[in-house]
Order: sequence, then C-alpha cells, then structure tokens
Amino acid sequence: MSNFRSILPNYYSILEENGIAQYIQCKNSPVSFDINESTEILWKKHDKSLKKIKVSEIEPETSLLDLKIELANRIFQNCFFCERKCNVDRTKTSGNCGVKEARISSEFLHFGEENVLVPSYTIFFSGCTFHCVFCQNWNISQHIGGLYVESDMLANAISRRKNDRARNVNWVGGDPTSNLKYILKVLKKCKENIPQVWNSNMYCSEETMKLLNGIIDVYLTDFKYGNDDCAKRLSKVDNYTKVIKRNHKTAYNQGEMIIRHLVLPNHVKCCSEPILQWINKNTPEAAVNVMAQYRPEYHAYEYEDMARPLSTEEYLQAKNYAKKLNIHIM
Ligand code: SF4
Repeated sequence: MSNFRSILPNYYSILEENGIAQYIQCKNSPVSFDINESTEILWKKHDKSLKKIKVSEIEPETSLLDLKIELANRIFQNCFFCERKCNVDRTKTSGNCGVKEARISSEFLHFGEENVLVPSYTIFFSGCTFHCVFCQNWNISQHIGGLYVESDMLANAISRRKNDRARNVNWVGGDPTSNLKYILKVLKKCKENIPQVWNSNMYCSEETMKLLNGIIDVYLTDFKYGNDDCAKRLSKVDNYTKVIKRNHKTAYNQGEMIIRHLVLPNHVKCCSEPILQWINKNTPEAAVNVMAQYRPEYHAYEYEDMARPLSTEEYLQAKNYAKKLNIHIM
C-alpha cells in the first residue's frame, strides 16, 4: 500500500494549513506589465517571474496571476488552449469543443473521487476537447448547456464549500481546458487557502501548461490510450501520445500528480500495458488509479471492441501488470 502523504506532500501541507496553495503565491507575487506590451514580451515576463516567485505581504497592484489572466484573454481571442488549435475568436464563436464563455453544468461536494480527495468541491464545465465514443458524461461533454456563473459568485461558493469541509477545488467537465481564462478569473476573486485540482484529459497546449504552472497543486489526469490509432478511432483526436506524454512530464515537474487509467475492454495489450510502462519510466512517483468501471455508454455499441463491460480478468491483468512494475497504485 503506497503512502499518499509522501506522494502528495504539498497537498497535505495545504490541507493542514502548513503550506500555501500555489495560486495564492502567484496572486501575491508582484509583476509589472502593461497591457499594451506585445504577447512575446508578456510571455518573457511570465516565464521569468515563474522562475522566482516573490511573495509580498500585501496583494500587489499587478501580480503574476494578473499577467496569466491577460495572456489567457489573448489566447481566448485566437483560441489555442488545447492542441486542436482552432484559432477562433471565442468572444464571437466556438471551436471544436463548442465552448464560448464558460458554462457550468453542475457543482457539488463529490464523495466519489479518490479517497485522498474527498470531499471534493467539483465544478463540471459543459463541453470537451475530446469526443470519446464511450463518454459516460456525454450529456454535458458533447452538448453545451449549463449556466454562466459570475466569477465572484463562484469564488463565494468556493468559500462556502470550504466551510462545508471541501478538501480541494476540482476543475473538470467535459474538460476544464477550454475554460482556463474563466478559472483564472475566479481564482483572482478567491481568498481561500485550498488546493486546486486540474482534472483533465491533458490535451492542453504548451501555453496552457505554462499558465497552469504556479496555479495547480494536483494534476488529476486521464491517460487513456497507448497508441494514436486507438485515440483517433475512439476519441477523434490527433497526435494523442505525443501531446499527452509531453503534458504528463510537464505536470509531473510543476505539481503533484494522480494519474487515472480507465482499463478498456480489448485494450489491455495495446493501451494499458504501454501506458503503465511509460508511467513507470517517466513519472514513477505519481499515484496511479487503475480503474475498472468501464461500461458501454453513448456510441460504444457501434464499436465491436467497446460494446461490452470490462471483464474481471482484463482488469486484474492490468492491475497486476502495474503491481509488477511497483507503480504506486491507489
Ligand atoms: S479549447 Fe476549444 S476552441 Fe480552443 S483550441 Fe481547443 S477545441 Fe478549439
């Protein structure tokens, strides 16, 4: 049994009020910039400030968080938050994910996440950068509904949920990637020392990963496929392995990590085993949740390999493979 305190030390130190959530440090780190400066200059200032975060006693006039918001505003108008890189102006239209301004489908204290996370204040956005044929949340991920919630209202809700004993804020969907500009604006209004969890398919652009640096305490990632053919066929996405591996390495270096791998029927050899090998080699200290709950939903019945639940044998084959590699299984 792995010791999750040693895998997630910063997360626990925030919960015990010995540590400070990354976003608060970012908010109190002064950076001087002008909105008339070029994007190139702003990125240089961003990257330089991230290397030495200086936390001041009082909230500065302009902070690293403000700079991140300005950069996110610019990406929003030519969107490349994810690797689909639609380059659309989302003040006017939506791209592949279908999202313009952030819409929240639901938010509640979630007791069904990993033990170390619950109760988790989970915020479900509408829309997704993937189109998985077996999506269990297809009604919110593939259809844009929900409500726009003002950022200060959501910040107040975070305070209330912290009083209700929420251990973290869990940004999910669909996928949170399309909504990074909104998330940063909520954090600007938020004052609670509470860990931030990025619960994502990890198809983020490199720029999104940079904006998350200094904000996210725990990356709760989804690693689904061991090769690009399965990813293309089942999630309609290109260059899956290159992007997801790059972002997992980045996340591993800039926060703490829980990797979820949902074992898919008929995909242990082509997906589960190569993923677990990769994790063992590249992110060995990450906690890994090998998940058994696959059931055919949405369009899964149209795909022969996906049209049945996972068998116990398949699940044990993947789990025992992870055990043999000494992966920190949850
Ligand atoms: S977040 Fe949406 S609009 Fe932006 S690049 Fe990705 S799919 Fe396209």
